[in-house]
Amino acid sequence: MTTDSLNNTLFARAQKTTPGGVNSPVRAFKSVGGTPRFITRAEGPYFWDADGKRYIDYIGSWGPAIVGHAHPEVVKAVQDAAARGLSFGAPTEGEILMAEEICRLVPSIEQVRLVSSGTEATMSALRLARGATGRDKIVKFEGCYHGHADSLLVKAGSGLLTFGNPTSAGVPEDFVKHTLVLDYNNVAQLEDAFASMGDTIACVIVEPVAGNMNLIKATPEFLRAMRDLCTRHGAILIFDEVMCGFRVGLGGAQELYDIVPDLTALGKVIGGGMPVAAFGGRAELMQNMAPIGAVYQAGTLSGNPVAVAAGMTTLRLIQEPGFYEKLTAQTARLAAGLAQAAKEAGVSFCADSVGGMFGIYFSDEVPGSYAEMMAGDKTRFNAFFHAMLDEGVYFAPAAFEAGFVSAQHDDAVIDETIAAARRVFAKLA
Ligand code: PMP
Repeated sequence: MTTDSLNNTLFARAQKTTPGGVNSPVRAFKSVGGTPRFITRAEGPYFWDADGKRYIDYIGSWGPAIVGHAHPEVVKAVQDAAARGLSFGAPTEGEILMAEEICRLVPSIEQVRLVSSGTEATMSALRLARGATGRDKIVKFEGCYHGHADSLLVKAGSGLLTFGNPTSAGVPEDFVKHTLVLDYNNVAQLEDAFASMGDTIACVIVEPVAGNMNLIKATPEFLRAMRDLCTRHGAILIFDEVMCGFRVGLGGAQELYDIVPDLTALGKVIGGGMPVAAFGGRAELMQNMAPIGAVYQAGTLSGNPVAVAAGMTTLRLIQEPGFYEKLTAQTARLAAGLAQAAKEAGVSFCADSVGGMFGIYFSDEVPGSYAEMMAGDKTRFNAFFHAMLDEGVYFAPAAFEAGFVSAQHDDAVIDETIAAARRVFAKLA
């Protein structure tokens, strides 16, 4: 990119009034270096930056854009809703329709509350779990991200079964002293934790398909053990499906693995690019929420009519016949094509996918845990990322993120990506 790039100008300007020039850290390209692209518009599988360069987009707003950008039906629904008023602070029928749809599509959810971000959804689910059980301790897994609520911004402690340390300044030790951080996919460790303190654990929260340490799938045994231990010890099992819900399949990871959590957090796809997220579960548990129960939670813009219109239209579009079959096949085709291109060039690389989510790893084997994922070749990833960017393909700007395919990524778009990757791998070899 030349120095007179508008992206450079905008980045310099942004940094004057916004910390790091961005409103969410990963957008800053800190991990990969270089100048973030400032996006001016998006359509289908593409977006365009301030210099007018077109990219095939594999982040899809980090998950929401599953039907492709600026889908005409979603845009129309938003325009129509906006014309009727932006926000009322009083209930609407649209919120009932959305709740009914979520409950129908995710059978473990009998009642649901709409919020505006995934962070709010998981934070509120956690509060509900603690309120309902009268217990304080929570279990999370290293490498899973559940939004930026204090007690969830925790990294593993120094030894087995030690409580965690804050991963962010400004989070008091006192706030995380109840958060136990365990290894993903480690059944024995989870059993040990429950054996020593099971009756004081309020909940286990997990990304059943992890997408915040690249893509890492849970093993069925891991999720099954979690379900059994929670049931036996009266703890609440929270599936954080903010990313994998409506992404790995219509019923989310819980349908894929056939496991019924007590509570589920949703976001991203259910807003179709607008701020809608949700948490829900068994009615008897959800009855603990204010205004009928003692667990408080609220939001000025919760169930916002314009956002709900985008979400409902998206939920309708993803139920068209064959939607997930096609999305899954296209994503698998991308993963296989990238892996083949790397193999031809002799680059140590592999790829994996589930539904419309994929992971690319600069290692010989697909990782199963945070530690294994961290062992990948980050320098090579960064070189790959920038070379692909030059080719007009935008992957997640960090080695630790999953990628996303939309229904608009057709054969031609995937083939163009693989052809670009073949040129890039040849240079990397
Ligand atoms: N949970 C998961 C699994 C997520 O991937 C994210 C966001 N990437 C969140 C929670 C937080 O959602 P939000 O950014 O909407 O607050």
